[in-house]
Amino acid sequence: MPFEKAARLTALPPYLFKEIDRLKAEVAAKGVDVINLGVGDPDQPTPSFIIKALQEAAEKPEHHQYPSYSGMGSFRKSAAAWCKKRFGLTLDPATEIVTLIGSKEGIAHFPLAFLNQGDMALIPTPAYPVYHSGTLFAGGRSHFMPLVKENGFLPDLNAIPADVAREAKIMFLNYPNNPTGATADAAFFEKVVAFAKQYNIIVAHDAAYSEMGFDGYRPISFLESKGAKDIGIEFHSLSKSFNMTGWRLGFAIGNAEILDGLGQVKANIDSGAFNAVQEAGIAALESDQSSITAMQKLYEERRDVLTEGLREAGLDVEPLKATFYVWCHTPKGMKSAEFTSLLLEKAGIVTTPGNGFGAPGEGYVRFALTVDKPRLQEAVARIKKLGI
Ligand SMILES: *Cc1c(COP(=O)(O)O)cnc(C)c1O
Repeated sequence: MPFEKAARLTALPPYLFKEIDRLKAEVAAKGVDVINLGVGDPDQPTPSFIIKALQEAAEKPEHHQYPSYSGMGSFRKSAAAWCKKRFGLTLDPATEIVTLIGSKEGIAHFPLAFLNQGDMALIPTPAYPVYHSGTLFAGGRSHFMPLVKENGFLPDLNAIPADVAREAKIMFLNYPNNPTGATADAAFFEKVVAFAKQYNIIVAHDAAYSEMGFDGYRPISFLESKGAKDIGIEFHSLSKSFNMTGWRLGFAIGNAEILDGLGQVKANIDSGAFNAVQEAGIAALESDQSSITAMQKLYEERRDVLTEGLREAGLDVEPLKATFYVWCHTPKGMKSAEFTSLLLEKAGIVTTPGNGFGAPGEGYVRFALTVDKPRLQEAVARIKKLGI
């Protein structure tokens, strides 16, 4: 039957990993031993103390009923304590924290709370696709802020036309950044706060990679900036920090009124995260954080293998201080898609073309550090054989 999809679906850009998956399957079918550095999903298991906490909590009948919409009080309390310890933030667990079913859920639903039909959101590009799709689903329009090397992959606030800024209701940001690996400092966040206050814009900062910093670098929270809590919401995730992508747990923090809007949307869409998963989240947040230190060390080592290897192969790589992505320039004269295809077809390596995250990503490919060191060494050896 002719069921026509809604315009909001047909307006979406093509799903980035679909075509890559198809090509990967094609190459694998030929018997090639494919190395997957495509999707950003940690390969390591969730630490066992977190699994144990889930197992125990799952036994408790009181957790089998509907959770609270905004999250268990005890989870929000431990998230507040974690934010205090980690960033020095003082947050009221009752009004300034909402539990999320993964941060993607919160990010995707957030525009529904503050955008009316035709309203503008400021979206970085290249970027995680959910800021734009969430905006589209809410009937909003995206004004894209290009992230380019010359500006440290930070948006140039001065380049946003004043009439666009006046119209905008939300600005999405994400540091440490996927896909570029870039980081933001306090001085940049202070400029963002001033800009947001000047134009009455909500800043929605995605901090999914806050714990993935290397060489002693500890990413900061947007909410550490003076005045940020007047205009800001920040999305946190346990996915990358604790290898918990499959568990679906995150939380939003920030301005109480802004969080109330998100909470109201969520109360009408979902019924909260499974309490037993939140209990496991408490175990993660209240732990000594040694699993995070171990995770950082693991990716540092992998980063060194891949970065050095790619450079030896003649490629130009951005230095990586945070996230588990290596943002690599394509060989001279080669487009992102061409290089991704070459890597897949001639070396059996899956990567993501930079332009798939947005036009200014053209000329880059993203490598995810999601395989162990020997496999990365194998990947490097294969790339060297290409003779770039
Ligand atoms: C992985 C990732 C997330 C995390 O999503 P969850 O829903 O918490 O698993 C959020 N933002 C970005 C930019 C990511 O790369």
